[in-house]
Formats: sequence, structure tokens, C-alpha cells
Amino acid sequence: MDFLRPTTWAQALAAKADRPGALPVQGGTDVMVEINFDVRRPEALLDLNQVAELREWGMTDGICRIGAGVTYATVVDELGGVLPGLAQAARTVGSPQIRNRGTVAGNLGAASPAGDSHPPLLAAGAVVEVESRERGTRLIPAAEFYLGVKRNALEPDELIRAVRVEPAQGPQYFSKVGTRNAMVIAVCSFAVALHPGERRVGTGIGSAAPTPRRALEAEALLARELDWHAPLDPALLARFGELCARAAAPIDDVRGTAAYRVHAVGVMARRTLTWAWNDHLARRAA
Ligand SMILES: Cc1cc2nc3c(=O)[nH]c(=O)nc-3n(C[C@H](O)[C@H](O)[C@H](O)COP(=O)(O)OP(=O)(O)OC[C@H]3O[C@@H](n4cnc5c(N)ncnc54)[C@H](O)[C@@H]3O)c2cc1C
Repeated sequence: MDFLRPTTWAQALAAKADRPGALPVQGGTDVMVEINFDVRRPEALLDLNQVAELREWGMTDGICRIGAGVTYATVVDELGGVLPGLAQAARTVGSPQIRNRGTVAGNLGAASPAGDSHPPLLAAGAVVEVESRERGTRLIPAAEFYLGVKRNALEPDELIRAVRVEPAQGPQYFSKVGTRNAMVIAVCSFAVALHPGERRVGTGIGSAAPTPRRALEAEALLARELDWHAPLDPALLARFGELCARAAAPIDDVRGTAAYRVHAVGVMARRTLTWAWNDHLARRAA
């Protein structure tokens, strides 16, 4: 197996264009497990760890741009104020070792329906910045990036450069059900992001459908009926939970049954919206 080691982004794009079968590796926390277990045997590995600019994040035109090499540990340490939902999700990923190596871009590359980054990225309206040598930059909304179980919208010659997310304008929450508190793949998960300026609430469901997905009918309900100056109406909250549960399309597997997942998505939806709404009202009162 060849091991390609570009030191610049241009070299990385050239390597992927010349060898579309080369498998990118960033933290390696998915890739190395798959190779160890012989799940795949790529013709070449394209190690992106020497491309320094991938490890940076920054603000560009009011948008937070997270380089593909930014680890979960950095998200937890540095982005909690800017992207609280993503930082909460990052805190639940694996163990310190995994958070020190693993990246949000790697989560997107793997495109597992259970990946913890996906619900907060969907709720916040994130956009995935991908690039190829031949066609330049392409911006893909997170909601269009997930195509199927472990399938994403990347073309064979494309790499993920960064994830672009608007800094939180309102409270954001992430919730994950697992069989224990740490080192656990989500049985299911849920994220909510309040966008007070747009009078909109974003949602993201994880591990309860072939792909991460938004609860669109639930979002539309709140856009129509939520009174942004009042306490949360219990009937509206219940309806929101029902519509989020209905948006799930899970399967029975070793981690949980479909019926349990549907139930849990509804519970997490009500809980996270309640937490976010309490913060929203507290901020207004302050
Ligand atoms: C013990 C353990 C615990 C884990 N716990 C969790 C957990 O709690 N929650 C969770 O969501 N995940 C978990 N994972 C899975 C894994 O850590 C995450 O999916 C992580 O985000 C992968 O990031 P990485 O940088 O290590 O990706 P890599 O393993 O390097 O790559 C993953 C995929 O993304 C592709 N890729 C990477 N970078 C790019 C790029 N720039 N452009 C295009 N494609 C790219 C790779 O080719 C590969 O297909 C766990 C894994 C282990 C081993």
C-alpha cells in the first residue's frame, strides 16, 4: 500500500486528483480501525496530517471556518462559546485519546449515521467546503452532504477543506443516548439550535435513520407557532416532540430497537428545546 504524504493543500489536491483511489487519513480513528480489521485495503493512504493549514480555525466574513484537521479536543477547548452545540457533541466523542486525534471532517468523511458531529451541524445550518484540483471549491449544505449509510457527496477527486458554520445566535443543545456515559456509539442523538434573528429553530437527528437528518415538519411547526416572547406552550412542545419522533426512520440493531429510538428522539427533542428555551428567556430577562 502506498503512503502519500503531502505537506501543502495544493499537493494534497494534486495527489487526490492523480490517485482518486487514495484514502485520505486525518486522525485515523476510523481509517486505522477499518484497516486493522481488514474492512478495506485501499491502494494508497493520503495522509493529510502534514498540511498545517488544515489544523486551523478562524472567522471569515462572520462565519466560523473549521479546518479539516481541527480535532474534537480543539473544538471543546476553543469553540464552546462560538458553537456550543458542536462543542457539546465533541465532548461526548470517544475518549480523550480519540478526541485528541479525531476530527469533525473525519466524521463527515466517514458519514456514519451515528456520528456525533452531524446533528449539531444540521441544526446550525453548517456548510461543508470541499475542493478538487480540477473544479476548485464546492460548498455543500450539511443536509445535502449525507447520501446514505456511510456515503457522502464527495467526488473521488475531492477533499474536505473545512466546515463553515455561523456562530451561534442563540442557545444550542445536543443530547445523546448511549448504553453508558463515555466511549459509546450513539443509540440515537438530537441537536437543537435557536436562531432568534430568523425566528427559526434548527434540528438534527442522529443514529435514527440511514443518514443524519433534520426534522423538517417540526421546524416548520415552530416557525409558524412559536411565540418568541412567551414561555414554551406545553402543547406545542409535545407536538414538536411528536413530529421529531415521526421524522426518525430507525432500524433495530445491536444498540437499540427502532421503537426505542423513535421514543428517545421525541424525549430528547422536548428536553433540548426546553433547555434552549429556558436559556433564551433568561438571556432576554438579563
Ligand atoms: C474507540 C473509538 C471511539 C469512537 N467514539 C466515537 C464517538 O463517540 N462518536 C463519534 O461520532 N465517532 C466516534 N468514533 C469514530 C471516529 O473517532 C470519528 O468518526 C472521527 O470523527 C473520525 O475522525 P478522524 O479524523 O480520525 O478520521 P479518519 O479516520 O482519518 O477518516 C475518517 C473518514 O473520513 C475521510 N476523511 C478524513 N479527512 C478527510 C478530508 N479532509 N477529506 C475527505 N475525506 C476525509 C477518511 O478517508 C475516512 O473515510 C470512535 C472511534 C474509535 C476508534
